[in-house]
Amino acid sequence: MARYTDPVCRLCRREGIKLFLKGPKCFSDKCPLEKRNFAPGQHGKDRKAKIVGYGLQLREKQKTKRMYFAQESQFRNYFEKAARSQGVTGELLLQQLERRLDTVVHRIGFGISRRQARQLVRHGHVHVNGRKVNIPSYQANVGDEITIRESSRKLAILEQAKEFASHQNAPGWLEIDRENFKGKVLSLPKREEIQLPVNEQLIVELYSK
Ligand code: SF4
Repeated sequence: MARYTDPVCRLCRREGIKLFLKGPKCFSDKCPLEKRNFAPGQHGKDRKAKIVGYGLQLREKQKTKRMYFAQESQFRNYFEKAARSQGVTGELLLQQLERRLDTVVHRIGFGISRRQARQLVRHGHVHVNGRKVNIPSYQANVGDEITIRESSRKLAILEQAKEFASHQNAPGWLEIDRENFKGKVLSLPKREEIQLPVNEQLIVELYSK
């Protein structure tokens, strides 16, 4: 599946829920969903039928996939790996999504949104255990130290992101030292530490058909 390049706010309008893809704008009255909470497109306003069954499961999967900018094949691989592992499949699925390097960088507070964090990773500004890693889907492990490359520390977007993050709750599974551009994975995230408006059981049911 090709990477999504259209305006991301359309994704929130399609799902009818804030996916928080744009940082501070998502928390302001400039968020398009505040005024136009209906699907985009000519007939968006007319789509009022209650979604049930398969449709509900599909929407939950799409919503979650879009929050993390994961591609369909990647998302399914996360599910299959979770289903093969010991534990609760839905929780293991979300855990893999949270462990993506772009998400970890965002959670530490180096990117104002997952999208911006993803760009930082792609452009080589992020190091893991002292080595450049420019793969947004890299799975962070317990003990990994995530830092910003020395020569990138003066980037204006980093200052904005750090300021924004200082008003957010830091996840307990990460040790965060923003002043020194450092974060460390202390443990794998548990379900209660992943604050997402997602019913992962619906996704498990969808893929288990
Ligand atoms: Fe979604 Fe944020 Fe755009 Fe609002 S501003 S529609 S929450 S991406």
